[in-house]
Parts: sequence; structure tokens; C-alpha cells
Amino acid sequence: MGGRAQMGKRIAEMGFNPGGGAINWFPGHMAAATRAIRDRLKLADLVIEVRDARIPLSSANEDLQSLLSCKRRIIALNKKDMANPNIMHRWVQHFESCKQDCLSMNAHLKSSVSQLLALVELKLKEVISREPTLLVMVVGVPNVGKSSLINSIHQIANSRFPVQEKIKCATVGPLPGVTQDIAGYKIANRPSIYVLDTPGVLVPSIPDIETGLKLALTGAVKDSVVGEERIAQYLLAILNSRRTPLHWDRLGNERMRTAPEFDGRNKNIFADSIPKRRRQLNVSDSDALYIEDLVREVQRTLYLTFKDFEGNLEEEGELESLIDAQLTALRKSFRIPSHRACDEARTMVSKKLLTLFRTGKLGPFILDNLPNSS
Ligand code: GDP
Repeated sequence: MGGRAQMGKRIAEMGFNPGGGAINWFPGHMAAATRAIRDRLKLADLVIEVRDARIPLSSANEDLQSLLSCKRRIIALNKKDMANPNIMHRWVQHFESCKQDCLSMNAHLKSSVSQLLALVELKLKEVISREPTLLVMVVGVPNVGKSSLINSIHQIANSRFPVQEKIKCATVGPLPGVTQDIAGYKIANRPSIYVLDTPGVLVPSIPDIETGLKLALTGAVKDSVVGEERIAQYLLAILNSRRTPLHWDRLGNERMRTAPEFDGRNKNIFADSIPKRRRQLNVSDSDALYIEDLVREVQRTLYLTFKDFEGNLEEEGELESLIDAQLTALRKSFRIPSHRACDEARTMVSKKLLTLFRTGKLGPFILDNLPNSS
């Protein structure tokens, strides 16, 4: 196992939550849903397995992998806008080297979804042009963007075929020859290709706590299962171990030097108070700038605490105390009133930090390690 993978495991197992007990990741009914998906998968001629581009491996469902890999499948690494573009292409290469079709995408962009649909058509038409009707099913663990993708497909389908027809399909059931109507969106003709309108929700596989925390960080597992503070601590542990705060500092300096509008007035953005800068702007500019300023301030707080840290990042206890100091310092950045109780303030800080990460404001990340990389 590579150094980075070892590090991730160590971070995940840190004793942030002493006495927290075993985590019950999923309600039982989700396992039953997986059984139902197995049946529906039999109907599909091609499966689009949506994964989160930030966790290309951790957002898979292991139980169904053998079944999925036997089918015509495209792995759609969605939310690529939030994944590190310098590493993304290596993940696509990785899947391709395993003879697995794969595409990184953004479910909100029509161009990106059209690219996926072109690949779907290519994969299907080259093999089974004789079938009159072909079905495509979208599956994936929660929150990877299945509904967003199906929504975009719906819009593209309507623009291609304004009058959408119903699909009739033989049921997978005890009675042969029985057909049923299934809802789907027609995306191509000759053969007709339909994408089913209901995605299959898969249960994520959680072989270890690290995978669980990555899924929680990206929103596939509910926050309440692990608790916001634990997830935020995990995020900070990753950022510190990757020395990301130093990178932010370099990036900030770089931006300052190369900004075309740089004329010395903005030399030290932290010197001007946020309220003062806001007063100079109209409302919508002011909101955007507020977030921008907030992000810079959070990054700066994390950088300063990181820089002042004299302990050893490899030592679990010392890394924990850095994270503790950071959560405390962030109270000020997030303007948490000082009268708040300590526990409550930490939860508020954690929630706000997670929101910044999850909206991509802290920058693009890929949390999984490429197999065989160190
Ligand atoms: P589902 O649970 O798999 O159906 O996921 P949803 O389609 O409900 O999406 C979950 C969240 O991710 C929503 O807030 C979406 O707006 C967001 N989302 C979906 N696709 C993308 C994407 O490509 N990029 C970004 N940044 N957000 C996305």
C-alpha cells in the first residue's frame, strides 16, 4: 500500500470520537432496495454507473460490481467540477486501462451530458442495432448526481424528440410474454434508446471507517450518522496531511502578483475589514465578495495555524491538537458569537467548513488514491 493510502487509513482511525461506539452506516431498507435493483438491472441493455469524481472508488457498491461489470457499463465520474483536474484524467486512464468505459462529467452541463449520451449510443449501436428498443438504467450511491443527470437527460430527450412515446417492455416476472409500461426518456432512434426515469439507488460499501468518512464528507452518508464535527476533523486531517494550507498561501501570493487589476490597492485584502469593503459595493457583488472573503479568511486561518504548528504531523496526538486549534481559530473566521457554548460553536464551525468544502469553495479535491500510486 502506498504512503498516501497508509496516511489516509491512519487519519481515518484517529481517536476523535472516543467512546463513540460502532457506527450504523445504513438503514436496513437500503439493502432490500439493492435486491430490487438486481432484478431491474436484468432489463437494462446498458448501465450508467454514476460515481462521485472526488471518490471514484469509494462511491462504488462492491456487492453489485460483479453483476455490473458483466453488463455494458459506463462509469460516469460526476461532479468533475469539484475534482482536481490535474489528477482526474489519470483516473479516467485507470478505468480505461481496466477495459472499463469511463467519462468524467458535470450533470448540470448539457454539453457534458450530451457527451455521455453520445458514448451510450456508440456502445449500444455498435452491438445491438437489430433490437427495436434498448433500455439504459442509471444507478449509483446517494447524492452522486443521479437525479440531476436524469433531469438533464430529460431535457435533452425533449429537445430531440418533442413527442415522447411510452416504452413497452417484457417484465421480469413469473409470467412470460407479459409486457408493462415503463417510464423513460427517448434519446435516440433506430434503434430507439430510452433512459429509465427512475435511478437505482445503491448502498455504498463501507469496508472501513476511512471509506465511510469520505462518503460522509461528499454527502453520500447523512451527516447525523457520523456527526459534523468528526467529518470536519477528518477534512482538516486530510488538508493538513496534504499540506494544502501551504498551497493556498502560494496560490494567494501568485494571484496577488498576476491579477490584472492589481494596482497596489488590494495588496493586503485582509487589511481592509469585510464590512468596510462591503459598504463599497452593491448587494449582489457584496454577497459574492463576502463568500470570497470568507473563503480567503478561512484558508488564511488554516494556513497560519498550520505554519505556527511545531509538532509532528505524523504523530496522531499532535495532528489532533493542531486540528483542535484550527477548529477554535475558525470560530472567529466564521464570526461565531463568543457567548456560544464551546460544543455548540464547534458544531457550527464544522457545519460551515463542510459547506465550503461541499460547494467546492475550498478548491477541487480527489480523496481516493489511484491504485498502485504512492
Ligand atoms: P442523487 O441522490 O444521486 O440523485 O443526487 P442529486 O442529483 O440529488 O444531486 C445531489 C447534489 O449534487 C445536488 O445538490 C446537485 O445539485 C449536486 N450535483 C449533481 N451533479 C453535480 C455536478 O456535476 N456538479 C456539482 N457541483 N454538483 C452536482
